[in-house]
Amino acid sequence: MSDPRVITVGIDIDGVLGDLNASMVNMVDQALGLKFKPEDCDRWDYWLDWMGKSTMLGLMDDCWNFGYVPDAEAGLSKTIQRLRTAGHGNRFRVMIISKRGPHSHTAVVKWLHARKIKYDSISFPHHEESKFSYPIDILIDDRGKFVEEVQHCYFRAMYLRDQPWNQEVEIFPKNAKRVGTVAEAVQDILDAYPHLIKVGKEI
Ligand SMILES: [Mg+2]
Repeated sequence: MSDPRVITVGIDIDGVLGDLNASMVNMVDQALGLKFKPEDCDRWDYWLDWMGKSTMLGLMDDCWNFGYVPDAEAGLSKTIQRLRTAGHGNRFRVMIISKRGPHSHTAVVKWLHARKIKYDSISFPHHEESKFSYPIDILIDDRGKFVEEVQHCYFRAMYLRDQPWNQEVEIFPKNAKRVGTVAEAVQDILDAYPHLIKVGKEI
């Protein structure tokens, strides 16, 4: 059984670590000839105006397999390692958790490896189950619906990574917060849990 004092931080990929939509703009143009722009991604299911779900999921996989997915922010490797090594490395574990089909698993793992982004575990849920059904204490994600879900999850917290498609979320429960970057979320986590880090130093 894992140490209950260890905090597991779940981090999403699309829209959090990787700027998938920057890649989608090019892929949609190439595949469908549609002049789709980043500012069109102004709600979670923006793609419904442009294509069906299976087409969208296929293009997302194509972005990972054949396109270029830029980093969503600079310094991701250092930021995540800062969390993993806090308190002598025995306070926080990082679980990469990203909903996707099997066709892009390998490309995503290679993408993380190429950026030297280290993690303790990785999970690719394939269905619509909540990420809070996984053993995560704190989630960093760009999907607005998780803010609604986390308010019913005791002893858990959520950072909503600010994106144009999650602006409809205006009310945050005490255990959720909007952040501009993963680095901001990590800083907030380390500020909020100094007592845990001190305990870690004493061990
Ligand atoms: Mg996402």
